Amino acid sequence: MDYREKSWWLETLPEDIKPESPLESSDRADVVIIGGGYTGLSAGYHLKTLEPKLDVRILESEICGFGASGRNGGFSMTLFGLTKGITKFRFGDEKARAAQIYMEEAVDYLHDMIGKHGLDCDYEQSGYLLVATSNAQIKRIEDDFKIIERWGLKGIERWERERLAKEFNTEFYKLGWFEPRCGILNPAKLTREMKRIAEEKKVVIYENSPVTTFRKMSDGRFLVKTERGEINCEYLVFATNAYSLLFPRLRSMQAPVFTHIVLSEPLDQKRMESIGWKCRTGIEDARDFIHYYRLTADNRILMGGGDVSLAFGKNFDHDANMSTFDHLENHISEVFPQLKGIRITHRWGGPVSITVDMAPAIGYIGRDRKAIYSLGCMGHGVSMTTLNGRTIAEMICGMDTPRTSMFFVGRKTIPWPPEPIRFGVSQLIRGYMRLEDRLIYK
Ligand SMILES: Cc1cc2nc3c(=O)[nH]c(=O)nc-3n(C[C@H](O)[C@H](O)[C@H](O)COP(=O)(O)OP(=O)(O)OC[C@H]3O[C@@H](n4cnc5c(N)ncnc54)[C@H](O)[C@@H]3O)c2cc1C
Repeated sequence: MDYREKSWWLETLPEDIKPESPLESSDRADVVIIGGGYTGLSAGYHLKTLEPKLDVRILESEICGFGASGRNGGFSMTLFGLTKGITKFRFGDEKARAAQIYMEEAVDYLHDMIGKHGLDCDYEQSGYLLVATSNAQIKRIEDDFKIIERWGLKGIERWERERLAKEFNTEFYKLGWFEPRCGILNPAKLTREMKRIAEEKKVVIYENSPVTTFRKMSDGRFLVKTERGEINCEYLVFATNAYSLLFPRLRSMQAPVFTHIVLSEPLDQKRMESIGWKCRTGIEDARDFIHYYRLTADNRILMGGGDVSLAFGKNFDHDANMSTFDHLENHISEVFPQLKGIRITHRWGGPVSITVDMAPAIGYIGRDRKAIYSLGCMGHGVSMTTLNGRTIAEMICGMDTPRTSMFFVGRKTIPWPPEPIRFGVSQLIRGYMRLEDRLIYK
């Protein structure tokens, strides 16, 4: 497989992408982590930081960053679940507030990790801007301002039309929610750097090593098998996010949903001047199916979202969706008419993990708390999964921290129904959200 085709980000990696050697032996370890995205790499790094003597192995089916971690929009942001309103409705005010604080910690923590370890990932702390582009979206953002004010949380700015008009040469924006602590980065470079610091701590990483089965043995340990090897371990971590569906024990907890991205050619100086955007912040609108967009280090425009593709059963073949690509391409010149005719050079997509109540979950399988899963980060996992890795490490080390006692750790997830009902239900939800966007949030 040519992994560079999976996203432009993977194409920007300076080195050849050659998978690490696969697992080809029968081994024994303390912890096996399945999945080499941010969750798995961060969990490995933090385990060895907390307990250097632990023998920690990561099994990745392709290359680290093959999943969402190598393909995402690169926003380090504070959104937990789908919206603050849904989180508040589902879990109540106090937990929704705690979720916001966890996410602020996640963004700050990733910022600090990048600084502390010199993670070379084109990070720019240019903030996050949620914009209203219609009156209904203004109402949504106003509601969020009321929530955050009641919670007494600081650090979020209100950008009125005049401020927006100063920053951007577009008529499109009516109200803005700006969070200066957030940032943008190159997600594939971040994955490679997280892999580097995990390996420096002596985490052993096998690539091209899909886990085919695992079973619990009579002594309480796990036997984890790949095509060519096996590892006997005490703790097992499923850091498989949207791919968790491939494991029967996790099948009903989440569903994979595919989001898509288009990327323009680099903008020359004249075009850059024509759009403003000197603050370089990452931007999202406030529709149901948000558009998310940003500049890259070489001044391309990345535009994503707008709709999603749904998967039936275990079919992960949804990286491309031509009508969504066309929609995203048109949306660039809707927001910035001065960019009409700009050339699109790359198009790709990837799976995010969705729970029924649209909120993340970390939990245990089995009463002895030796197997842990993490899933459901929606399209907002860049900062969160990095901190979740620390949380998972603390859980394995038996620590009691503000993170391990978060309400979404060990929470009960609402199961998705089996196919074909799951596909039908998710089509209905998608249809409803598309209709709301067309009629209300447009
Ligand atoms: C197009 C797109 C845009 C996004 N944009 C943003 C954004 O701008 N900001 C943000 O915060 N979030 C964004 N997200 C979400 C974010 O990327 C994810 O939440 C995050 O990367 C999840 O990390 P992870 O390590 O949990 O999962 P993944 O990165 O998906 O890693 C899971 C890994 O498990 C491996 N695996 C699966 N099955 C097996 C097996 N049987 N054996 C071994 N390994 C296996 C996979 O190959 C994969 O590498 C986006 C996601 C997508 C797809």
